[in-house]
Amino acid sequence: KLDAHPTGRHFLQIPGPSPVPDRILRAMSLPTIDHRGPEFGALGLAVLSGIREVFQTRQPVVIYPSSGTGAWEAALANTLSPGDTVLMYETGQFAALWARLATRLGLRPEILAWDGEDAVLPQAPSWRRGVQAEMIEARLRRDSERTIKAVCVVHNETSTGVTSDVAAVRRAIDAAGHPALLMVDTISGLASADYRHDEWGVDVTISGSQKGLMLPPGIGFNALSPRALEASKTAGLPRSYWAWDEIVEMNRDGYWPYTPNTNLLYGLHESLAMLKEEGLPQVFARHQRWAGGVRAAVTAWGLPIQCADPAVYSPVLTGVITPPGVDADALRQLIHQRFDLSLGTGLGKLKGRMFRIGHLGDSNDLTLLATLAGCEMGLKLAGVALAGSGVQAAMDFFGKQS
Ligand code: PLP
Repeated sequence: KLDAHPTGRHFLQIPGPSPVPDRILRAMSLPTIDHRGPEFGALGLAVLSGIREVFQTRQPVVIYPSSGTGAWEAALANTLSPGDTVLMYETGQFAALWARLATRLGLRPEILAWDGEDAVLPQAPSWRRGVQAEMIEARLRRDSERTIKAVCVVHNETSTGVTSDVAAVRRAIDAAGHPALLMVDTISGLASADYRHDEWGVDVTISGSQKGLMLPPGIGFNALSPRALEASKTAGLPRSYWAWDEIVEMNRDGYWPYTPNTNLLYGLHESLAMLKEEGLPQVFARHQRWAGGVRAAVTAWGLPIQCADPAVYSPVLTGVITPPGVDADALRQLIHQRFDLSLGTGLGKLKGRMFRIGHLGDSNDLTLLATLAGCEMGLKLAGVALAGSGVQAAMDFFGKQS
């Protein structure tokens, strides 16, 4: 049985946590130091400054020892008051989970979702497309009482492989002349897909360590704007651990009010160095190219891509819809057992209907070709009639493009 004693490296091709480069693992293996000592202060200042370049901001970025969910909570708890209405656009499972979190905090999420026709997935039409900014503009124009305090969108919806045009959402808010804060989750977009906190006028950007930054899970981020900091002075939701004021104050010298995750910060330091050496534009182009190769394979198989709008294909992951009657989770399980390859499951409304291929983290053309080979063999073993060889299509794609 192949799964009894797997050899070689496991293929972690879920859309996060992503494979961690050896260079980062080595950096994290150094001894833990005194988090109040001088050496730590220098590390703190270096990562706090370096991470701003990745968010493309000059404003403070708060670093939490937390998962992304913690950073979601922090964004809302620091800026809003009990009972506030927040306009949340449902692009997929993560947008839906963020709305559930808002409800639990005592906020009133109002959900917007595209409800047009979709022949392939009639049960989830808005889970195949990006945010429709004009819907946000129309809703804000009707909000003459200004009850909506924030607009929340997910930049790269990890459950579907669909991105959203954040700049268009900012334009929609401005066109409506509405004062709502703009909050954006780019937990799986940051450092893989182009993201511009300042230029796009985002008030709070939420992210995490385990995707494009190529780190293990355990760091959450909030990038702030002056308006978000101002809102935090009067916001009424209770918060303590998440409170920005004390953290931002202590961060001026590179320290935290509590014990930060020192070894993950070593890893972040190394990750920032790697991103700087390659250059962000090159990093973004590399992910676009990988995504192009993977989509060439899916298209050659004759299977639908979860994202129905080519303008917003994710550079980070590709969702693949399985034919009716083919349980995508059984297929994933088979591929895991036979080829030691982990693929992302279909989440929420998509359970059993699709799987997700992550193309981020410590990867290259050949690891992606091997991933696609695992998928193709698995699809054949599951009895799926393929239109052609996806591996061949991806080889042709990668072979031509440098
Ligand atoms: N938002 C998005 C877009 C995500 O991809 C994830 C995790 O995959 C989360 C939020 C939740 O983050 P975490 O699981 O780190 O709490």
